Amino acid sequence: MRSLVIEVEGLVKRYGETLAVAGISFTVERGEVFGLLGPNGAGKTTTVECLEGLRVPDSGEIRVLGEPPSPTNYALKARLGIQLQDSAFFPRLTVAETLSTFARFYPQARPVGELLELVALSEKRRSLVKDLSGGQRQRLAVALALVNDPELLILDEPTAGLDPQARHGLWDVIRAMQAEGKTVLLTTHYMEEAEALCGRVAIMDRGEIIALGAPTELIARLFKETAVELELTGKADLDDLSALPGVSRLVPEDDRIVLYTSDVPQTLAALTTRAAQGSLPLRDLIWRRASLEDVYLALTGRRIRE
Ligand code: ADP
Repeated sequence: MRSLVIEVEGLVKRYGETLAVAGISFTVERGEVFGLLGPNGAGKTTTVECLEGLRVPDSGEIRVLGEPPSPTNYALKARLGIQLQDSAFFPRLTVAETLSTFARFYPQARPVGELLELVALSEKRRSLVKDLSGGQRQRLAVALALVNDPELLILDEPTAGLDPQARHGLWDVIRAMQAEGKTVLLTTHYMEEAEALCGRVAIMDRGEIIALGAPTELIARLFKETAVELELTGKADLDDLSALPGVSRLVPEDDRIVLYTSDVPQTLAALTTRAAQGSLPLRDLIWRRASLEDVYLALTGRRIRE
C-alpha cells in the first residue's frame, strides 16, 4: 500500500475578503520531495501553515501523517520538522548551543555533531549565530527542523534571497534528507530549484493549483520540441536552417537563432555538417529543453518573477 504523508482535500482559506487558498487538493507520499511552486501571493505559505496546524482552514480536509493538524496536536508536532524563521534564533548563542537548546525540547533528539555535519556547519559550531552568513543561518534553520529526527520536513522558501552558492549548499542538505528516506515539502518561487529538487510539484497561482506532476512530465505535456540555440559570427541561410530534419520553427534574434526541433540528433548532425563545410559560421551551440518557467508562462501568460 502506498503511504500518504500529506493528504489535502478541498482546502480553502480566506483572510477577510482575500481568498488565499481556493479549494486545493493534493497528496504527498512517503519519501517524496514535493514542491509548492508559485509567485508571491499564490497561497503557498498559507497552505503550509494549515499543514503545520498554525492556521485553521475555512473548509477542506487535511491529514498529516494520518492525523488532523492543530496547535494542540503535540504527538503530531513531535513527528514534524518545521523550519523556523530567522527571528526565532538567539543571536548570542553559538551554533552548537542553539542546537542543544532546541534539542532539550524533545524526549529524543539527534546528536548535535550529526546535525552539524548534515548541514555542513561543523566548522561553525563555536560561531555566534549573529555572525553567520545568510546561507549559514538558513542551514541552521534546517538543522533545527531536524533536531527531533522528523518523518516530514516542511521548508517554506528555504533558499529565498540566497546567492547561488548558498542555495546549492541547501539543495545538498535537502538531497541528504531524501537519501535518509524523509519526506520533504518545500515551497519556492525559484523554478529551477523545483526542477532540480522535486520529484513532483504543484504549481500554484492565485490560490489554485494550476498544474501538478513531475517537472519533466509537466514540461513534456506542453512542450514537445527541444530548443537548439545557435550563436553565429556571420550570416546564415535561414531557409536552409528552417528545412533541416526535425525543425518545426525558427526564431532569429540578433546574433542568435533558436530552432525548435522534434529530432535533436538529426538536427545537430545537419548543423555540424554545415559548420564543418564552412557554410554555417557557428560560434556556440546549446540545446535545452523547455523549463517549468515555460510551463508557467504557457498556463498563465505571465512570468513567475514579475
Ligand atoms: P505565498 O506564500 O505564495 O507568497 P501567501 O499564502 O503568503 O502566498 O498569501 C496568499 C494571499 O493571502 C496573498 O494575497 C496575501 O496577501 C494574503 N495573506 C497572507 N497572509 C495574510 C494575513 N495574515 N492577513 C491577510 N492576508 C494575508
